[in-house]
Amino acid sequence: MSEIETTVLIVGGGPVGLVGAQLLGRRGVKTLVAEKYPARLEAPKAHALNPRSLEICEAAGLPMDAIHAVATPTEDGAYVRMVETLSKAPIGAITYERQDAAVRALTPWPLINIEQPRFEEIVEGSIHSLPSVELRRGLEWLECLQIGNSVVSTLRDRTSGETVKVRSRYVIACDGANSAVRDGVGIAMDGPEGLANHMMIHFEANLRPVVKDIPGILYFLFGPGINGVLIAYDIEKTWVLMHPCGPDASEVEFDEARCRAAVLSAVGADVPDLVIKGVRGWMMSAQVARRYRDGQVFLAGDAGHRFPPTGGLGLNTGIADIDNLTWKIATVEAGWASPDLLESYEPERRIIAQTNMGQSLANAFRIRTLFEALGYAPDQTVTADVFHGRLADPAGRATIDEAIAYQKDHFDSLRLQLGYAYSDALAGDQYLPISEFAQKCVEGARLPHIALQNSASTLNLVNPDGFTLITGREGASWHALVPLAGAPLACKVEGADFSVPGTPWSERMGLAATGAVLVRPDGHILAIALTDDAADISRLGQALAGCLRPQLQGTA
Ligand SMILES: Cc1cc2nc3c(=O)[nH]c(=O)nc-3n(C[C@H](O)[C@H](O)[C@H](O)COP(=O)(O)OP(=O)(O)OC[C@H]3O[C@@H](n4cnc5c(N)ncnc54)[C@H](O)[C@@H]3O)c2cc1C
Repeated sequence: MSEIETTVLIVGGGPVGLVGAQLLGRRGVKTLVAEKYPARLEAPKAHALNPRSLEICEAAGLPMDAIHAVATPTEDGAYVRMVETLSKAPIGAITYERQDAAVRALTPWPLINIEQPRFEEIVEGSIHSLPSVELRRGLEWLECLQIGNSVVSTLRDRTSGETVKVRSRYVIACDGANSAVRDGVGIAMDGPEGLANHMMIHFEANLRPVVKDIPGILYFLFGPGINGVLIAYDIEKTWVLMHPCGPDASEVEFDEARCRAAVLSAVGADVPDLVIKGVRGWMMSAQVARRYRDGQVFLAGDAGHRFPPTGGLGLNTGIADIDNLTWKIATVEAGWASPDLLESYEPERRIIAQTNMGQSLANAFRIRTLFEALGYAPDQTVTADVFHGRLADPAGRATIDEAIAYQKDHFDSLRLQLGYAYSDALAGDQYLPISEFAQKCVEGARLPHIALQNSASTLNLVNPDGFTLITGREGASWHALVPLAGAPLACKVEGADFSVPGTPWSERMGLAATGAVLVRPDGHILAIALTDDAADISRLGQALAGCLRPQLQGTA
C-alpha cells in the first residue's frame, strides 16, 4: 500500500477534472488527479464549447490557438439540419448558436465545436507543465473517510492492484454522471432518471461527398426509417449516431453488423470507408445533486448534474462549476480567505445547474412539436405515406417550418451561457427568450466584455490570482484600497492601464469617471461603486471583506 499527501484530490480526469487541475495548478495548489482509465476514451461526447467556457479556458492559461486548431471549421458547424437521411435534401435547417461576427461584441470567444477527447488532450498537455499537478491514470477512487478537515481516500491502482491512500484537504468529485464519490458520501440526486435511452455509435467515415455543400453539426433524423441524431464532429472523419433504444437494450446486442446497418440507414447511401469505432449505452436523465458538498468533498460537472444533451450544456456547466470552486479553494489555501468562502459554492452553482437542466429538458420536449408536425403518432412512429404527405402538403409544410423555427431556443441559448449572475440582479431576465442577451454591469454577473483599444478584452484585465478593481478615468484614488484588501488586489484605471474605443468604459458601465467595479478572480462582479465617495469606498471594502472573511465581517 502506498500513501500520498496532497492539498486537492480531483477524482476523474474528464474535461471538468482536467480544467480543475489547470485552474488549481496555475495558482500553485498541490493537486492530484486520479483517473480510473489507463487511456483516454476516444468516444467523442460533447462537441460545443460555449463562449463562457472558452473565456474560462483563456483565463486559465490554456492554449487557445491549439483549441481552435482542432475545432470543427465554423462553416461546417453553423447549422442544425432536419433530415430523413443524410443523403436526401434536408427537411429544414436552423442556425446553430451564434458564431457570427456580431457576437464578438458580447464575447471575445464565439462558441466552437470540438471533439471532447481532443479538448481533453490539450488540457492534459497543459497540466503536465504545472509543477504542482500530478495526473495518475489507472487509479480508481473507492471510498473515503473524513477526519476533521482532511479526507483520507482509498484508491486502487488498476494495473498493479495496489491500494493507494490519499490524504487531502479537499476532494473534488469530477467522476461523471455515475459518480462513486457522490454515492460514497451519500448525496442523492433530485429529478427523473432514465427518461430515454440511446446507443452512441461512434464511427469514422468521410461523408463530405454525401453532405456536399449542406454541412451541419447536428442532423436530426425523422421519418419512417431510422430516427435519432447524427453528430458531425468532423464531416470527413468523426461521427456519432445517437440511436434511440429501449431501456433494456445492451451494448452486446449492438454488434458491428447492427451498428453498420444503423449508420447506413441514417446515411441512406453506401459508405465504402465506414469504420465502427465503438458503441456505448447512454441514459438520458434530468437530475441535480441535492447537495454540492459533504464536509471537504465537493461535486463538480456531471457528478453534480446530469442533463439531457439537448442544449449542449453539460460540459459547459461543469467548466463553470470548477472555475467557481477552484479560485475559492486557492484563496482559502493562500490564507486570504476563511474557509467560509467555500460555502458560497453550492448556492451559486446549484441554481445554475437547475436552470440549465430545466432548459435542456424543455429542449428535449420541444422537439416533439416537430414530430407532431411531421405526422408522428403518440407512440412515436410514422408511416411513409403520412410523413411524405405532410411534407408535400403546403399547409403541412407551413406547420413543419413553424415547428422548426420553434426550436430556436434549443440552438441559441446565449443568455444561459453568458447571462447568469451569482445574485438576484438578473432575475428579471428569466422572462426573456434565452437567445436575448445584453451585457449588464450588475453584481454577480460576469464582467461585460468590451474590446480594448489594443483589441484584447476587458476580461483580460481580470487578475485570476486575486481581485481586480477596474475604475474610470478619475479613479486613481481607489489605489488606496489595495494595501487594505487582505488579498491581492490589482487596480486598473481607465486611460492609464487600458482604454476602449469611443464612449468611455465607465460611462458604458453606468458609472461616474470616479466609479469602480470590483471583480472576483473568476471574472464575476463582486461589487460596484458608482463614484469614489467615502460611502462607496467603504461599501466596496466591506464587500471584499465579506467575501473573504464572512464570519468576521458578521461579528465585527
Ligand atoms: C452525445 C453527447 C453529446 C454531448 N454534447 C455536449 C455538448 O455539446 N456540450 C456540453 O456541454 N456537453 C455535452 N455533453 C455532455 C458532456 O459530455 C458531459 O457533460 C461531460 O463529459 C462531463 O464532464 P465531466 O468531466 O464532469 O465527466 P466525465 O466526462 O464523465 O468524466 C468523468 C471521468 O471520471 C472518471 N472516473 C469515473 N469514476 C471514477 C473513479 N471511481 N475513480 C477515478 N476516476 C473515475 C471517468 O473515467 C471519466 O474520465 C454531451 C454528452 C453526450 C453523451
